[in-house]
Amino acid sequence: MPFTLHGLAVSQGIAIGHVHLVSHALLEVNHYQLAPRHLEAEMARLDDAVAEVRGELQELRSASEHNPAYNEVGAFVDVHLMFLDDPMLTDAARTLIDARRCNAEWALVQQMELLVEQFDQIEDAYLRERKADVIQVVERLVKVLLGQPGHLPRKRKDSPGTIVVAHDLSPADTLGFRDHDIAGFVTDVGGPTSHTAIVARSQGIPAVVALHNVRQLVHDNELMIIDGTRGVVIIDPDERILEEYRLRKTELELERSKLHRLTSARATTLDGEEVSLLANIELPRDGVQARKVHADGVGLFRTEFLFLNRHALPDEDEQFEAYRAALKHMGGAPVTIRTLDVGADKALEAVGKRSTEANPALGLRAIRYSLTEPKMFRTQLRALLRASHYGPLKILLPMLAHAHEMDQSLAMIAQAKEQLRERKQKFDPKVEVGGMIEVPAAALSLGMFVRRLQFLSIGTNDLIQYTLAIDRTDEAVAHLYDPLHPAVLKLIGGTIQVGARYGLPVSVCGEMAGDPAFTRLFLGMGLRRFSMQPTQLLGVKQEVLRADVGDLAPKVQRILKMDEQERVHEAVERLGV
Ligand code: PEP
Ligand code: MG
Repeated sequence: MPFTLHGLAVSQGIAIGHVHLVSHALLEVNHYQLAPRHLEAEMARLDDAVAEVRGELQELRSASEHNPAYNEVGAFVDVHLMFLDDPMLTDAARTLIDARRCNAEWALVQQMELLVEQFDQIEDAYLRERKADVIQVVERLVKVLLGQPGHLPRKRKDSPGTIVVAHDLSPADTLGFRDHDIAGFVTDVGGPTSHTAIVARSQGIPAVVALHNVRQLVHDNELMIIDGTRGVVIIDPDERILEEYRLRKTELELERSKLHRLTSARATTLDGEEVSLLANIELPRDGVQARKVHADGVGLFRTEFLFLNRHALPDEDEQFEAYRAALKHMGGAPVTIRTLDVGADKALEAVGKRSTEANPALGLRAIRYSLTEPKMFRTQLRALLRASHYGPLKILLPMLAHAHEMDQSLAMIAQAKEQLRERKQKFDPKVEVGGMIEVPAAALSLGMFVRRLQFLSIGTNDLIQYTLAIDRTDEAVAHLYDPLHPAVLKLIGGTIQVGARYGLPVSVCGEMAGDPAFTRLFLGMGLRRFSMQPTQLLGVKQEVLRADVGDLAPKVQRILKMDEQERVHEAVERLGV
């Protein structure tokens, strides 16, 4: 019987495929008592699981030897193999099974918790961090014991695709979908501008989040349709529904191919205003997509994705190569690279930083984090500066609110330059440094930014989060996430105005920039630089080509004076007709 669920639409398009349930294995472990005669079989179950996980890890190891993109994998696989054979883990679990007559998965989790406690006491930071490895090894073992496949299916040309169904996914998990046959994903939790959603959009993978308990309602291999535009998920559809969605999917593909005709057109409004359409990228190779849609450059390279999903931080040379590769992919167009923005929904595994703060979005995030890790920050700055020798690179600092954050960062850039001079390594001494405006405090005190920086970029995702006091990853408050709230528009409009007054380039690089519903509004505010996922660029270009700034500007000025949300929404909608 088909049934339908409604959630939040976070990445457009239609996906049709078979369900692949991804579980929180450790949360699902039950405790049960065994009869003495079953203990031997339980030990054998554990041994089989250990053997299977060993096989998986060895397979991963040999795959990593042939794929330079996974060169970090080899190192963590070795650590995992070591823990797998460590008597403190598996032997201790066997002793527990015997002594307490309990099931293997429960014994493993008990022993893991004991080890994690011991790791927490260790003074040496590196060793302390290894507790994450113990957790991951136990997670793998438990998944095998519970009969839940740990791996996503590899890419296959002829398959209808897989739909990942999970309680939650990290942005790093979503990034890993690139190498797999993933048609779409749905999750129980999540918000529209969480980084997981952003990565989904960047890859053009349809996604619906905030479905609450979808994992309990579906089974592995069941057929599912995701309508990522309407936020609808249909499980076990009948032939009639399938036919309807296949048709809609074809229509969408047709629309997309029509947009492709605009690829080489210049983004100029009807009254001749030139607009710069830039790309947001997460990895250097995303530059290929950006070039395909003729982006004028990269407006935001979120470098944290080089740091996620791995067990050791990338060193200076690796980062330098990545930044230089992004420049190369962009073939001489400017590339704005943001320094590390970790924390909140992007936890840094490599330093064992699991978010334990009550309010991670208000905690040690982005520039705040980098300034507490000067060695790591300087390494990144040196890598950026070295890459600046190979093309027009700009440095962007995230989540600024205080003058001293800018002063400290600029001093560290000066120190990094000095270190490179001593090493006789080349860099562009005039490399531009800009700042993200994503905290209301910044948008309301622009003078101090204008005096210190060379360009500004408005991060609407965080600006909305911090202005309206709603966690962008929390679906319970997602209905309050209103990009058109008068307060938000006043902060954006004010920043664009101040930039124009002082001759400081301002761009918008949050998700609003890629939504064609807001293109006219921004143009009327005076914005001429938009940065977005490459998949959104042609849709925005179409709007630019149809817009007349002379006509829009006075209308938008009136909108900026409104203080009723509903009136703003209606007025913005009217701009499009
Ligand atoms: C933003 O906050 O709008 C932004 C572009 O940064 P991120 O989404 O990476 O936080
Ligand atoms: Mg941000």
